[in-house]
Parts: sequence; structure tokens; C-alpha cells
Amino acid sequence: MSKLLVGSATDVGLVRSNNQDQLLVAPGLYAVADGMGGHAAGEVASETAVRALRAAFEASDVRSAEALRSAAKAANRAVWEQARANRGMFGMGTTLVALAVVERQDGTNALAVAHIGDSRLYLLRGQSFHQVTVDHSLVQELVDDGQITEAEAAVHPQRHVLTRALGVEPSAEVDLIHLVPEPGDRYLLCSDGLPREASDDQIAAVLTRFADPTEAARELVALANSNGGNDNISVVVVDVSANDASPKSLIVVPPGEDPERYGHDRGRAPSATAATGSLSAGQKSSITGSRTPGDRKVRSALRQPPTRQEHGATALPGRLTWRVVSFVSALCIVVGGAIGCLAWYARSSYFVTLSGNRISIYQGRPGGVMWFQPTLAERTDDTASSVLPYNLGTLRAGHLEPSLPDAKLYISRLISEKREAEVVTPASARGAPRSASKTTTTARTTTARTARAVPTTRPVGTPGRAGRAKPSAPA
Ligand code: MG
Repeated sequence: MSKLLVGSATDVGLVRSNNQDQLLVAPGLYAVADGMGGHAAGEVASETAVRALRAAFEASDVRSAEALRSAAKAANRAVWEQARANRGMFGMGTTLVALAVVERQDGTNALAVAHIGDSRLYLLRGQSFHQVTVDHSLVQELVDDGQITEAEAAVHPQRHVLTRALGVEPSAEVDLIHLVPEPGDRYLLCSDGLPREASDDQIAAVLTRFADPTEAARELVALANSNGGNDNISVVVVDVSANDASPKSLIVVPPGEDPERYGHDRGRAPSATAATGSLSAGQKSSITGSRTPGDRKVRSALRQPPTRQEHGATALPGRLTWRVVSFVSALCIVVGGAIGCLAWYARSSYFVTLSGNRISIYQGRPGGVMWFQPTLAERTDDTASSVLPYNLGTLRAGHLEPSLPDAKLYISRLISEKREAEVVTPASARGAPRSASKTTTTARTTTARTARAVPTTRPVGTPGRAGRAKPSAPA
């Protein structure tokens, strides 16, 4: 028969204004939750999850590993429903790592871990210090794929992005890990505020130096704060007594109780030279699980943005969910694309019009398109008198051309048309019935030719519309 002795500590850290972490130390059930969301929503999410987890697990008929996983799923539903019921809490969620004493079918006790997010469970066993859980984070997937190293992951700009979290969807995929405890095991549950500030070697050194779990927990919090304290820090240390060679039956020593009453070996002194890294084959055989570290479903949340100490910027409270960031990004792309198309439509053409009495070329569309107003491209020396009167209506409305050279060519055609008419109808002959008839014929021919060059959709309005008349019939 072995005993469990527990110590815990939590701290807001040195940068955050509130503590969104939540601890649970209950008989045979220990957990750390790290909330995310708005200013208060993160606290609500982690507190709701822990409370629902405990209620569901303690209400289960048999405290089995599957009951622990079911309790975690119940916690997911509780957070999800609370987020739906409160508009200001939309998108909130939390990580969760829970360690429980469970009953096996043969009647013996074991330990089980329910895990989602990047709060972690470590195991100090003999000379080894090992991370049992695998983070559900973007950088963990990049590491698994061999795209980045662990060292690069520690400083990666998207190291805050989670791929799974509790409460952000109606149902959650929770990893379940089965553990067969061994005498002297020391388990550490913690939020990411600890490993973000301290290396595995530093954490292992504290765990091996302080035999008392409460003292070890407090020292770990102090270590994280001494290294920056950029996030909330929460730790739970669970010891399996070392004075019993048969840990198949576990007795929980309530926090604050004298372990001597339960036969706990308080003199347990783990090796001061414990190494971090992999477990031996024998040690690994005592850990089985259903975690899926390669899961590619990126569907949970974004961690808190970089803190003031990390990037010299003002820290923002809470975390944004990955779904919200994706939605905002997609919205920005759609809106940006629409504005780009509108700008292209508004500025891709030129039109010829009268500016005062001068024939001018503007880039844009007559009257402008929304906030894209036409701009003067070129003002010619030609005036309204340089073209035939019946073209003035078109000019006042603005004649569209696809490019600046085309616009210049159009002006040249108008002027040529006027000159051609003057040659055919000398000034001396103006007013004579026969010549007038000839002029009219020529003008009609030219009008038909010009009309083919004018778009069928007539643009409306020009810059400085004041004083301009609607298109008029040829004079
Ligand atoms: Mg955190």
C-alpha cells in the first residue's frame, strides 16, 4: 500500500494583472487549468472546468480512467455552455491536465491522466525527469514534423497557439494516459507559466532538492518568477511514497494532514542528480495512453499575446481563440480583396471631358466610384471650340477610354473631325444651301463612326459637375 502526498502553489506572476489558472487538489484528483478568453473569461473558464471535472468524476459509479475522461468531457460542455450563455465570454476556453487515482478491473489502483492543451504533467522517477503529456500546440506539431527544433519552438512567434483546448467546441478530444505508479514517483502538474520560464533541468533540480511537495511547489513558482514571471504559474506536486514496494493500492493523504499518520516516508530524498530526458524501457512500459500528438485539427485557441517583457509592448489580458483569429484574418482578406477590386475598377480607365473650357483627360471614372475620385492626368490646349458642337454633349458627360494613349487618340479624332468639316465647308461657303447639305452629310458619317467608339453604357457625371449639362443632341 502506497500513499500519495500533495503540495501545490499558484501565483499571478510578475506581468499579468489577474490569475487565470485554477488548481484542484481534491482526494484522489488533482488538476491544473489555464484559462483563456477576455479579461475575466479566462478565470471563469478554468474555474468552471475544474469544478465540473470534480463534480463529474466524484459522481461516477467507478473511478476508472474512462470516468476521468468522461469528467473532462463534462468539463468541456460546462465551459462551452457557459460561453454560449454569456455574450462577453464567447470564445473562452481552458487547458486541463488532471491526474487521478483510478480503480482497475483487477481491483488495484493506478493513476490516469486526462489532458488537453499545453498544461503539462511531468514525472520524476529515479534519475529521470520526463514530460508525460504532449502539448496540443502548433509548435509541438512543427517539432513532431521535424520543421523546427525544441529550442526554436521555445522562441517561436506562434508558440502560444494551441491546437486543442477545453470549452471552445461542443465536444473535445481529450488525451487519456494510463500510469502504473512506482514507489518514489514524483508527479508534477503545471501550467505553461512554469516551463516557459524554466528549463527541464532547472525544474528537475528543484524537484530533487526539496523533499516536501508543498515546499517544492512554492520553489517552482519562485523559480518561474525569478526568470521573468511573464505568465500565471500553477503547480501541483504529487508524491508516491517511497517506503512501500507495492504501490498498487494508493491512499491519498489529505493536504495539511501529517503524513506520518499514514505511514508516509517524509524522509524521502530523491537523487540530486536526476537527469532530464527519456524514460528507460521499463519505465515507459508503465505509461500507456490514447494521446494523439500528431493530431492536425487546428481548432482551438491562441495564447495570450506577447507580454511587455517579451516584446516591449503592452500586455493584453486573456487569449484569443484560434477560430476568432482565423475568422478575422479571413474577413480582412475578403474586405481587402473587395477594396482592391473596387480601386482597380475606379482607377483603371481614363475619360476625356471639359475642364472649364479646356479639353482634359482624367484618370478614373466620371463622378468617381465611392471614395475613389478621378484625378487630372493631362490638360490639353484645345478648347470646346476645337471640336464639332455635337461632340460637346459627350465631352461634358465624359468619354471613357481604356488608357491614356487611347484618350489622346480620341481627342485627336475629334479635332481632326472638326478640321475635316471646316475643309469641306469653307467659311466663305457657310450658309449656302448646297454646302450646308454637304456638311451635314459629312457630319452624319463621322457621327456614325464616332458613335461606334463610344461605350454603349454612357458614364454619368464628371469631376466638377457644376455648370455641366447632360448630354445634348448634336447641334
Ligand atoms: Mg498560461
